[in-house]
Amino acid sequence: MTTTTLINPADETVIGTIEHSTLEQVDEAIVRATLAQIGWAALAPADRAAALRRFALAVDGAIDDLAALEVTNSGHPIGQARWEAGHVRDVLNYYAAAPERMLGQQIPVAGGINVTFLEPIGVVGIIVPWNFPMTIASWGFAPALAAGNAVVLKPAEWTPLTAIRLGELALEAGLPVGLFQVLPGRGSVVGERFVTHPRVGKIVFTGSTEVGKRVMAGCSEQVKAVTLELGGKSANVVFADSDLEKAAATAPYSVFENAGQDCCARSRILVQRSVFDRFLELLEPAVKAVKVGQPGDADTEMGPLVSRTHFESVAAYVPDDERVAFRGSAPAGPGFWFPPTVLLPASATDRTVTDEIFGPVVTVQAFDDEADAIRMANASQYGLSGSVWTRDLGRALRVSRGIATGNLSVNSNSSVRYSTPFGGFKQSGLGRELGPDAAEAFTETKNVFISTVD
Ligand code: NAD
Repeated sequence: MTTTTLINPADETVIGTIEHSTLEQVDEAIVRATLAQIGWAALAPADRAAALRRFALAVDGAIDDLAALEVTNSGHPIGQARWEAGHVRDVLNYYAAAPERMLGQQIPVAGGINVTFLEPIGVVGIIVPWNFPMTIASWGFAPALAAGNAVVLKPAEWTPLTAIRLGELALEAGLPVGLFQVLPGRGSVVGERFVTHPRVGKIVFTGSTEVGKRVMAGCSEQVKAVTLELGGKSANVVFADSDLEKAAATAPYSVFENAGQDCCARSRILVQRSVFDRFLELLEPAVKAVKVGQPGDADTEMGPLVSRTHFESVAAYVPDDERVAFRGSAPAGPGFWFPPTVLLPASATDRTVTDEIFGPVVTVQAFDDEADAIRMANASQYGLSGSVWTRDLGRALRVSRGIATGNLSVNSNSSVRYSTPFGGFKQSGLGRELGPDAAEAFTETKNVFISTVD
């Protein structure tokens, strides 16, 4: 059996070892899930709702535990980690309302009555990345369970601890054994087995575009349903008529939060040329004011990168100071610390502009007018998120409609609310998570015609 040694990213100490699930263990888990799902789907909708509310309550009681695990395992600042654990509770409560609202349709037809049913798919396989280990897991498992499915969940190799704890909390809350199982292990073993196992009816994959394409190709072998949440390189578009002070003061948090390891990071700032220099003057103190420090400190706003490997990947994008406009601070000593970094790229084709760096690195470029802003924002294979800053309502709407991306904010950088749909255009993904329709995405529509002809 292979293992992963878990390292605290803030100080490089070893915090534990995790055994990887074997192929046989995955197959056994899928059999257990198949059996558990039959009983779960047969429960009265109100009983499934009550079970999910108990699960939410158990998460609520464990917020401190879950947050402490994320601080140590992932280097997330404690304030952020507590928010993430609370978010999991909220997502469970939101989808606890779904079992009693899985509404079909009654469609007028000749010769009888036609009704539709939203049937659960069966077993759903959820594959999660390391950047937001518990929140992203909940976006899959909460609506999937609500719709009457069983879930097998694979956390990322580096960050399995909160997912494992959530699996225990589900059992403590009284969810049936086998209904929600967490299987740590390798993507090439556990993740791939979810894709190839005929009893797994749907895959929810969040991770890199490269692996997502392989998962999608694998799902095509069995015509298996798949949702993909992939990479991003989102634009923060700042017009001259905006509240420039606010746009500059908030821009660091739209890209440096979670040390830039955020698929929604606004990692390309596009500024109208007439206010470009002024914006940079305002941005510099805001970047330098970001509190980068120990994840356990209550006022820390940004922690370290998740691992040595990832640190090296981010650092390779900033080999020297040539293109650096300015930097924030970062602690010295052990840990995978990388300071918030602002680049003025040499050209629009520079790889700092085109690649998802997934670290605290942002480029700033100038645009001339509205059409130019839309063209530059869209010059990416990705289309996940983005922001538009302007006081002109018509322009805000025109630009929002013009940018090919799934989640936009006007005069704000917020990306995720569990009650609104989330997902990407282009190579940022396929399908949507969250929002009022998410549970339905874990069902098959069945049409039944009942003849009334004598
Ligand atoms: P990754 O693609 O390397 O891994 C994601 C998960 O897939 C991990 O659990 C991994 O073990 C598993 N995996 C690896 N190979 C596999 C295979 N062959 N079959 C099945 N599963 C396999 O991504 P990562 O480095 O963990 O995460 C960072 C990426 O995730 C970034 O690109 C980021 O933008 C993206 N992301 C997207 C969203 C979104 O909602 N769109 C959210 C968070 C992160």
